[in-house]
Amino acid sequence: MIHIRNDFNNPPEKLLSENCQKLIERSLIEKKKQSSSNNYYGDPNVVNQLRKLSQDKCSYCEVLSHGGFHVDHYRPLSSVKMIPTHKGYYWLSCEWSNLIFSCNACNIKKSNQFPIENEFLRVNEPSGDWRADSAQYKMEMPLIIHPQMDHPSEHMTFLPNGMVRDLTKKGQYTIDVCGLNRKDLINKRLKAINEIINLLYSQIKMFIEKEYDGKQLRTALCVVFSLLDRRSSSENEFSRLHWIFQAEFEIFIKDFIPETKALQLVIDAFRWFSVKKSKKIQLKSMFE
Ligand SMILES: [Zn+2]
Repeated sequence: MIHIRNDFNNPPEKLLSENCQKLIERSLIEKKKQSSSNNYYGDPNVVNQLRKLSQDKCSYCEVLSHGGFHVDHYRPLSSVKMIPTHKGYYWLSCEWSNLIFSCNACNIKKSNQFPIENEFLRVNEPSGDWRADSAQYKMEMPLIIHPQMDHPSEHMTFLPNGMVRDLTKKGQYTIDVCGLNRKDLINKRLKAINEIINLLYSQIKMFIEKEYDGKQLRTALCVVFSLLDRRSSSENEFSRLHWIFQAEFEIFIKDFIPETKALQLVIDAFRWFSVKKSKKIQLKSMFE
């Protein structure tokens, strides 16, 4: 999960159209969501704009879209789970700041759950400012990370076993509500980690078998480090996992590369690569 920039002041035209406004008015009169609201928030232009913002990935789990993605309503439109007296945030069906690009699995798991810290301040009626960053909605203190408002890195981190671990209560609820430790996701993350580990290991093997000298080994390892670095770029699947892999490099590799000498060679080469990379970044910023 990564932070996604969105300008809440600039919703897609379709959500501002007269027909969409009429539909919302009907929602307010009938005090329930309108099934035809899908024609507006599900409009291809709206979906594409959301898809572009999230770089074609699920905003919750960072899986790349392979079709079948949904527009998730951050605040659910139907009765909120565990709160039978709440009719749902039906008035937010076409509110731009309430729409999140999500994979099927996260969308289905999240369903109509919306835990908040301040239950006594839950918004029950469509009054005031409807934007997710308005005072009344912030005061609810949602326990689900809003990818376009929060910084997920403050709430959760990744482990070498492919699991995501909470750093805060909000992180803990988000992992649970969206099912971010579901088996298929853990397996996909593990596959991504193992790909890098296997590449590193095959270079070390070349060194052990004397196919590489020390300098050749470092060059070969740096090619793998560059790949890891590119994968941490936001447009890639599991970019945050790859970012954490780099930030906690020694922790990620130590159980997979057991030989002390081989492990030390990789760690030294990674430190060398990191220094070189940060110098390159410094130099680049001096000329920009
Ligand atoms: Zn997802």
